[in-house]
Amino acid sequence: FSVENTRNFSIIAHVDHGKSTLADRLLELTGTIDKTKNNKQVLDKLQVERERGITVKAQTASLFYNCDGKQYLLNLIDTPGHVDFSYEVSRSLSACQGVLLVVDANEGIQAQTVANFFLAFEAQLSVIPVINKIDLKNADPARVEKQIEKVFDIPSDECIKISAKLGTNIERVLQAVIERIPPGVIANVALFDGVVSKGDKIISAYTKKTYEVNEVGVLNPNEQPTHKLYAGQVGYLIAGMKDVTEAQIGDTLYLHKQPVEPLPGFKSAKPMVFAGMYPIDQSEYNNLKSAVEKLTINDSSVTVHRDSSLALGAGWRLGFLGLLHMEVFNQRLEQEYNASVILTTPTVPYKAVLSSAKLIKEYREKEITIINPAQFPDKSKVTEYLEPVILGTIITPDEYTGKVMMLCQARRAVQKNMMYIDQNRVMLKYLFPLNEIVVDFYDSLKSLSSGYASFDYEDAGYQTAELVKMDILLNGNHVEELVTIVHKDKAHSVGKAICERLKDSLPRQLFEIAIQAAIGSKIIARETVKAYRKNVLAKCYGGDITRKMKLLKRQAEGKKKLRKIGNIEVPKDAFIKVLRTQ
Ligand code: GDP
Ligand code: MG
Repeated sequence: FSVENTRNFSIIAHVDHGKSTLADRLLELTGTIDKTKNNKQVLDKLQVERERGITVKAQTASLFYNCDGKQYLLNLIDTPGHVDFSYEVSRSLSACQGVLLVVDANEGIQAQTVANFFLAFEAQLSVIPVINKIDLKNADPARVEKQIEKVFDIPSDECIKISAKLGTNIERVLQAVIERIPPGVIANVALFDGVVSKGDKIISAYTKKTYEVNEVGVLNPNEQPTHKLYAGQVGYLIAGMKDVTEAQIGDTLYLHKQPVEPLPGFKSAKPMVFAGMYPIDQSEYNNLKSAVEKLTINDSSVTVHRDSSLALGAGWRLGFLGLLHMEVFNQRLEQEYNASVILTTPTVPYKAVLSSAKLIKEYREKEITIINPAQFPDKSKVTEYLEPVILGTIITPDEYTGKVMMLCQARRAVQKNMMYIDQNRVMLKYLFPLNEIVVDFYDSLKSLSSGYASFDYEDAGYQTAELVKMDILLNGNHVEELVTIVHKDKAHSVGKAICERLKDSLPRQLFEIAIQAAIGSKIIARETVKAYRKNVLAKCYGGDITRKMKLLKRQAEGKKKLRKIGNIEVPKDAFIKVLRTQ
C-alpha cells in the first residue's frame, strides 16, 4: 500500500459514548470481522488484555476499504479511553493523522471528551466529530452539534450523526476518514543544506533505514506539495515510513549518496519520575531482573540503575517519563510476569548549582542532578537548588472551581490562566512543582470534583526551590532508607505523615521508641511507640514445650526479615508500609 492510500486513525470518546460499538461496526463493514457473528466490542477484548497489563502498547486493526475504485488501508489504532492513561493516549495518537471524536447524542460533551479532544488537537490531528446514539429517545444531536461548535470550534456541518448500535451512517464515517484525514506518516522537516525532491533516496541517521521520498511540500498551514524543498525552508516530507517511531523528533535525514554527521539536538525522552523497585522476597530477584530486562527492551524510555537498600535488599532505581508511565510499567510487571514488587514513593530529579570551583571540579559539573536523596549536597555547597515544574491543564465544571483552586494552592501551584470554555466549564492552567503532583494529585482532583475534572500536563523546565533534606530517627538513630528531599514549606507535614505511618507499622518492643523527623539537628515531628509489656513466651508459661519451641522458631524466622536500627527491630514490612506508594 502506498502512503497515499493509507490512513491511520483512532477513536476517542468519553466512557460509554460508543467507541467500542462503533469500532465493531467499522470492522464489520470492511469485512474485517464476520457480520453474522454476534460482535460485541471486539476491540474491547484488547482493552481487557490491557487492563490485565498485556497490551499497553496501542493495538492496531487493519481495515481494507474500497472507495471510488481505489483500495484503502485504514489502520484503526486503539487508544486506552481513560485520560488516566493520557500518556498512552498521546502516544498512540502520535501514530495517527486523525481521530473520530465520538459524542453521545444524549449526554453531550463530557470532561473526557474535552481532554481527549485537546490531546488530538495538540497533536495537530484532523478531528472528525461523530454524534452517536441518534436512535435514543432523548437524543438531541442539534444541541450536541452546537456544543461541538462552541467548545472545539468545529463547524456543525462537519458532524456525522450515527447510531453505532443500529449501524446507521457508518459508511459516511469511513468516507470521512478517507476524505478528511491526511495519508500516512508525514514528517515535518527543516532543510539545512542542499535540495530534496520527490524520488530522492534518503537515510535516517537515527534508524539507518533508507526511504524514497514520495512527496515534499510546505505547510501553510495545510500540506501543500511542492517539487522541491531548499535549504532554509521548513516543510514536510512523506517517505513511506510505516510507523511514527521511524520519524523521530530531532533526527537527521540525508541523501543516501551524501552521508553527513547527524546534527546535534537529537533528544530522547527524559525520565522525570524515579522510584526504587525491589522484589517482595529477595529469592525473586533473578526472576524480577529478567522481567525488568524484557520490559525495558520494549520500552526504552525507562532508565534502569541497580540500587540496594539495607531493608529491602537488592533492587533498582527506575526512571519513568511520568507517573502513568510508571503505573503502566508496574502493572505490566505484575500482570505479565507475575512479579510482586515494592515500588517506593516516586521522586523527581532535583538539581543543585554548586558554589565553588573546587566542588565543580570534584563533581565535574556545575549543576548536579539528584535522583537519590542520599546524594543530596549540603546547603553550604550550593548556591541554589532547583526543582522540575510542569504546566498543568485542568478542565472542570465551574461548581468545583473553588475547591480545585484550593487544592492547587495547597500543592504550591501558581495560576497562569483561567477561561470558560462554555457556560459552565472552566479551563485552568497552573504551574506546578512536579513533585507535588506525582503522588496523589490526580486522585484528589477526581474525588473533589465527583470525577468530572480532567487533568493533563506538559514539561515546563526547572525553578528555584528551597529544598531541605529530612532525616528520620528512631531513638536518635538515623534510618537511611527514609531520608527524603522536601520543600521547606512541606517539611513539617511530610515529616509528620512519615512518623505517623511508621508508628502504625512498628511493632511494640520492650522499650519505648521515639520516632522523629529532623532537618539537620532540628526536630520537626515526633511520634512515640509505647513499650510492649508481655514477652512472647509469657502466654505459654507452663504450657507444653512443643508450643514453646514453635513460638521460638517463628520468632527466629521473623528476625531474618528484621533490620536492626540501634537496638530497635524494624520488620521489613514496616519499611514497605512507609516507602511504598499505596
Ligand atoms: P465505549 O465505552 O465508548 O467503548 O462505549 P461502548 O461501545 O461500550 O457503548 C456503551 C453502551 O452504549 C453500550 O451499552 C452500547 O450498547 C451502547 N451504545 C453504543 N452505541 C449506541 C447507539 O448508537 N445507540 C444506542 N442506543 N446505544 C448505543
Ligand atoms: Mg468500550
